[in-house]
Amino acid sequence: MIKSLSLLILGTAIANAELRVVTDFEGGNAEVVMLDQTAAKLRIMPALHEGRGWPCWWFLRLEGTTAGQKITLEVQGQTRPFRPDTVLASSWCQPDQAVLSHDGKIWHQTTKAERTADKVAVYQVQAEGPSLWLAWGPPFVPATAESVLAGVKAKLGDEAERFELAKTRDGRPVSGIRIGKPNAPRQVWVNARQHAWEAGGAWVGRGFVEWLASAEAQDFRKRCCVHFIPIMDVDNVTLGAGGKESLPQDHNRDWSDAPYHPEVTAAQKRISEIQATHGLDVFLDLHNPGPTDRAPYFFGPFGFERMTGLQRENYQRWMDLAAAHLTGPLKVEPKYRYATYVKTEEERGRMSSGWARAHGGEGTISITLETAWNTPNSTAENYMTVGGQLARALDAYLKEPRH
Ligand SMILES: [Zn+2]
Repeated sequence: MIKSLSLLILGTAIANAELRVVTDFEGGNAEVVMLDQTAAKLRIMPALHEGRGWPCWWFLRLEGTTAGQKITLEVQGQTRPFRPDTVLASSWCQPDQAVLSHDGKIWHQTTKAERTADKVAVYQVQAEGPSLWLAWGPPFVPATAESVLAGVKAKLGDEAERFELAKTRDGRPVSGIRIGKPNAPRQVWVNARQHAWEAGGAWVGRGFVEWLASAEAQDFRKRCCVHFIPIMDVDNVTLGAGGKESLPQDHNRDWSDAPYHPEVTAAQKRISEIQATHGLDVFLDLHNPGPTDRAPYFFGPFGFERMTGLQRENYQRWMDLAAAHLTGPLKVEPKYRYATYVKTEEERGRMSSGWARAHGGEGTISITLETAWNTPNSTAENYMTVGGQLARALDAYLKEPRH
């Protein structure tokens, strides 16, 4: 009797374990298109945040799962336009491999998606317990940035100083850290996540800054000062919005004389001060490219082929050192690409890289790293490896005196 009763209760419990999609956390995003409880099949698309850029990022927690339960996740493109008359291509939200986590901390790639004729990516995953986290890529949210910066500061003590770059338009803090002495002879500015969906860029930033805090970088910290912002577009990262082509102004088209975003204004002010007092050696902007880019690459300066003298020498030396250090598993292309899709001089000037070039000195280099996200190697660990390699390339670059 007792046995059959407990079986009955167990049976009821299983029947009531409804799958439920939760997104009310930092970076959470999913619009449920269909949830089939019987087949354990979920269809989502990235939710549209009006005016907040590309609907490509998604990140959800599925509750009500049971250990060993097989789940089918289908991801389709958002069907509504993100700006007038423009619907985003579905490929941006459909990595070959998405990521899953059983604890919300450690992320694994899924097996490769199957793609249907009507442009849906289908991922097969398996739960290990009562909930399962699923995302476009390994998430990196303001709480992640906070723990990274706190860790670096704790490790370096007086050798590092945390600062608030600005408050966003929605009042959130944009955090940064300075590593090395503020009056060091060599000065570097690095920022990530001007495009909120490009989480991989922030993982590269983490690997970069953690190398700077390592024992290996002791000498580097005596000679150089690095100013680092792990997340520029804190508002859209928090909301789980894509950010790219947001209205009225994409972060990386906002570097005008009158920026819309306070964090861009504040970055311009700090960089100008660095240039005026010590000279800026390197400006580095961290991004992720398109779904068909299978290797990281740098965007270099327009007109590089026509450059002469010190400028050309520095850009070439950087490329050579980067290629020598970023050797894999995400190996960098050994030649610059150029953002030729940006057509006018005016718009090029409003990109952060262009602004830094115009406001730096003759010896300043300003480059953008696009780290490939759509490969089996595009994991948080490998992004961090890229960041460490990037830091070593920077160390080598700055070992030569400034000309
Ligand atoms: Zn970008």
